[in-house]
Amino acid sequence: MTTTPRYHHALLLVPLYVSLAWLGMWLAAKPPSSLTVVWLPSGIGLIMLLLAGRRGLPLVLLSSAIANAGGWLYFGGSWGTALLAGLLLAPFDSLQSWLAWRGCGAPRRLLHDVGGLQRFFWRVCLLPPLLTTWAMYLINHALGAPATAQGHLAGLAMMTSGDCLGLFVVTPLYLVLREVPWPRLAGLTLKIAALVALPLLLAQGVHPWLIWLLGLTLIYVAIRYRIVGSSIAVALLTLASLLLLLSELGPQLAYEHSLSYVALSLMILSVGLAPHCIGLVIQQLDDVNHTLEQRVAERTRALREVQKQLETMAYSDSLTGLGNRHAFYIRLQEEQERATRRGRRFALALLDIDHFKRINDSYGHQTGDEVLRAVAVLMQDSVRVIDRVYRWGGEEFMIIFPDAGADDAMVPLQRICQLIGMQPVTTAKGELYTSVSIGVTEFAGRHDAIDALLGRVDALLYQAKRDGRNRIAR
Ligand code: GH3
Ligand code: MG
Ligand code: MG
Repeated sequence: MTTTPRYHHALLLVPLYVSLAWLGMWLAAKPPSSLTVVWLPSGIGLIMLLLAGRRGLPLVLLSSAIANAGGWLYFGGSWGTALLAGLLLAPFDSLQSWLAWRGCGAPRRLLHDVGGLQRFFWRVCLLPPLLTTWAMYLINHALGAPATAQGHLAGLAMMTSGDCLGLFVVTPLYLVLREVPWPRLAGLTLKIAALVALPLLLAQGVHPWLIWLLGLTLIYVAIRYRIVGSSIAVALLTLASLLLLLSELGPQLAYEHSLSYVALSLMILSVGLAPHCIGLVIQQLDDVNHTLEQRVAERTRALREVQKQLETMAYSDSLTGLGNRHAFYIRLQEEQERATRRGRRFALALLDIDHFKRINDSYGHQTGDEVLRAVAVLMQDSVRVIDRVYRWGGEEFMIIFPDAGADDAMVPLQRICQLIGMQPVTTAKGELYTSVSIGVTEFAGRHDAIDALLGRVDALLYQAKRDGRNRIAR
């Protein structure tokens, strides 16, 4: 059999199970109680199975056998009776733990939401003890255990409610221990202990009615610390009740002893259920909020991406990747305003590929596209980083040269003109020669309107065409 760390942890729980059982028996025998409120081993048995699965079952069996046999010996039973008690009671304790374990379903889901709380209460805490404690009570009685002063029914009710409470208190604690780091848990326990102690002390010292403050405290803890807080609070409340009982300060004075213990168990069970419920509802709301926020963030991100794509589509030319006519207008307007405001200059050039129609006609549109792309790359590579090249339409391009006059623009434009006129463009259909004609002008000061600029550069381009193409007119 291979052993896992979780199985080792379950193994470590054997001595805890046995000692808590003996502590419970010792408390039960302590006058004036003769009864016990909470049977913690029932919770420990469940945790053994949660840790080790089916392989935890022999561990529960062993722990219960040792605990029961030891208990009988301690209270004066013979070795034979003790052995018999161990052998007969252990299967029922194990059955109870197994039923509770099966009732848990997936432990990760347990106490995860309000539905899980309902399942936890009925199928983990109530049903398994209800189905098994009567058998254990009968066995104990058959072996010679004395009935309680209030009769068998009260004894059975006490045993059942004790087991229920054990499961109710220990299981959430186990889940909390798994999820919360130790230092935070210690701090949290101290804070909650102070909060729970306050109403108990007030009830004890000032007026018993102040015990109702406990309800408010538990609700506050659940709201503030969610299910983690309510789990710790319920465990502390149980511990406090035990201590009060031991010091004979508890609520048992109101009833017959055994009934008061049952009442106390049920009180903690029902009072504890409310904060758990509140804690889980708030946690669920948190989760829903968190999921919604995540979804909104995801959608926003997706929208931004689409927006970016749309912007790219709206401002750029899909064939060459250059800015399109729309982008050109915006930039030209900005440049004109900037130049007007700051008294700066800028130059504007319009380039047109010569006899481009022939390329299309001779080699096809696709080759024409290749030439357009090659010319675009060449222009982009020939100008400064701050200069902007746009596709104006068809085989025509615009270049804006910020902080430059027509003279300055001539340098790169001549380079462009020469390179395109002398170097062949490599296409799938072979190397092709082409040329460009260029018109270039500059911003002539604050009264120079955009339309006038465009009209001028257009006229200059046509002049270059008229003068024989493959040249620059200014
Ligand atoms: P010119 O020297 O006078 O400018 O002569 P041209 O043939 O270059 O001028 P014209 O305006 O007659 O022809 C331009 C051609 O450009 C016509 C059109 O089919 C082609 N064209 C426009 N846009 C595209 C494009 O995106 N791809 C391709 N392959 N051809 C295009
Ligand atoms: Mg043209
Ligand atoms: Mg042309």
